[in-house]
Amino acid sequence: MPDRMWSLAEFRFDEAIEAAEVYLDSGTELELMARDESIAFAHERGANLVASCPPTGEAAPSCVVAKVSLPVRWERAPIDEPPIDERLWFEAPCGRDVLVGNGHSFTGRMAAWCPHEGVGYNVSRAEMGAMSEEARYFVAGFLAGNEPGYPVDVDGETDEADLSAWRAALARFRRTGSWYGRWGTCQVCGCVLLPDTAGDRCHQHSAAG
Ligand SMILES: [Zn+2]
Ligand SMILES: [Zn+2]
Repeated sequence: MPDRMWSLAEFRFDEAIEAAEVYLDSGTELELMARDESIAFAHERGANLVASCPPTGEAAPSCVVAKVSLPVRWERAPIDEPPIDERLWFEAPCGRDVLVGNGHSFTGRMAAWCPHEGVGYNVSRAEMGAMSEEARYFVAGFLAGNEPGYPVDVDGETDEADLSAWRAALARFRRTGSWYGRWGTCQVCGCVLLPDTAGDRCHQHSAAG
């Protein structure tokens, strides 16, 4: 699953599809065809050959027959900013601030609005004080949707130790909303830290420190 929306610069149709062969999607089946033959097929129907997704560099790309007009441009649709919902309050150092959405920075970071300063900023679960019932459920749902997937190797297999580590990291993530996502080790015992933490001590040695 892509974690980012594709740029229009990655849209490919007709001769810009860099492949000798393509899978032509007729809606019911995929047929492997020469690209040029597929383009001719599309043009005969007053349409173009459109690649379904950006090139992966592996198999022949899947394509559909669809109309393209030049210059290539995005569909236009209204941008509605959702109104601030006061029920999503939480205690911040300045008073009650309000959750307003996704921070789109690091995993688990939420967008917040401070009515005292009139500024928007990003916040993690661990930085929030007391909060409303509505905010509590907003955070739980947000973090559930932000959970990184479990580790898999090139064959799609998951190591048992990786799976346990992932579960333990997620348990902490649900409490803190932090996911550091870099390798780190414990300064005391040298174990490899779970990826949610930016600390330098493992769970076992952080209390003693
Ligand atoms: Zn504030
Ligand atoms: Zn340790």
